[in-house]
Amino acid sequence: MNCQCEPEALCRFLGDEMDAEERQSMETHLGQCTDCTRMLAALRVTDRCLEQLDQIEPDAATLLDVRRAMACERQRSHDDSLMTMDEVAEYLRLDPDEFERVASQVPAFEFAGKVLVRRSQLLEWVRQRERTYANAEAGSLVTGILAFPGKAGVA
Ligand SMILES: [Zn+2]
Repeated sequence: MNCQCEPEALCRFLGDEMDAEERQSMETHLGQCTDCTRMLAALRVTDRCLEQLDQIEPDAATLLDVRRAMACERQRSHDDSLMTMDEVAEYLRLDPDEFERVASQVPAFEFAGKVLVRRSQLLEWVRQRERTYANAEAGSLVTGILAFPGKAGVA
């Protein structure tokens, strides 16, 4: 017999995760299918082996590493997500008129007739503007000090 059963179904059967109807039809199937019967026996053996393994309590440092890695992964997939221009405008807290003035500078691309922005690209673009702004501020402060040394309190 050539069976099309998913191994995953056998796992659910073994783990008692099937409803009565599903369970009944699996039992009927197992009565006729040697492939699945053999696979189920192998899964039972595997289950028993796993139960016999020692349960290891990870130490605090390992737990912390795992949590950090998971947080990084979550952040990475979040940053890789794509935004529509409406979402970008909302993120930048701009109304449609304001957004129209800067829309052409946003690092966007066209795909299937949609204009999309990768979140990580948008964040980098915002960071660049922050740096430019900070430098300009520092520059104007220095210029101010040079122009009005007395006022800025520098002798
Ligand atoms: Zn089968």
